[in-house]
Amino acid sequence: MKIAKTASLPLDAIRGTFKERQIKMSKIAEEIFNKIIEKPDDLSLARIQEITQDTLTKTAGDGRKINIQIKDYLSQGACEGKEEFVENDGIIEGFKIHVPTEKGAIKPSHLSVFMHELVHALYQLTNPKALALEGSANITTRQCNRAKSFYENSLYSCEMFEWFNPISTKIKQEIALRGIDTKEKIKILQDCKHSLISEFLAYWEGEKFSCRGVQHGIESIRTPDYDCIMFEDKIEYLEKEIAKLIKKVRKGKE
Ligand SMILES: [Zn+2]
Repeated sequence: MKIAKTASLPLDAIRGTFKERQIKMSKIAEEIFNKIIEKPDDLSLARIQEITQDTLTKTAGDGRKINIQIKDYLSQGACEGKEEFVENDGIIEGFKIHVPTEKGAIKPSHLSVFMHELVHALYQLTNPKALALEGSANITTRQCNRAKSFYENSLYSCEMFEWFNPISTKIKQEIALRGIDTKEKIKILQDCKHSLISEFLAYWEGEKFSCRGVQHGIESIRTPDYDCIMFEDKIEYLEKEIAKLIKKVRKGKE
């Protein structure tokens, strides 16, 4: 998908290696958190919105206004948030973060949830190539659903994953992506990889800010235990699979 200026940072701001972009992302999150925590009693959506937007616009530094909206999370009984990109006619124009609120303010117990969702948006902002992958695979709706369920049930889950006894994830990948052209398969797996990395970083940062919040009298809900997801192993697995498929395409076997 194409990305509008309002949903991206200038190349100068994000140039560098993947690791450097990650550090950049972490710094922006830190900057936003520090400004929020200056007034721990005022977590109003309007204030958080202004801080987030101003920080990002300042980071862009070329006058563009980054489109990021902080909204209430309407799902009943929700204890978590949600982040999504805003799309119009195949162009990504901005981001929306949904987080549980109370009287127009983020619930203090959910400030770390906001930070988690913010990291997802920052990941997309600092990795436009990953964002552009969204919906780029030329596959049928049915194939898309199979790929989605593979991600949700085998990757972003606590399902057992073993390198030397690949009973689950690997076999499920082969079943779920069966019949899909190799080039499209590469895009799907790359998209899965970025989603997992983004999730891993969001948990990591969310936990960090949850601890920092406590120092300012903000007690957060507990971060769920995510060790069982085995993020790093699964990311490594996907990288190897993608490399294998790219090699196959280059050899012209497909
Ligand atoms: Zn997440």
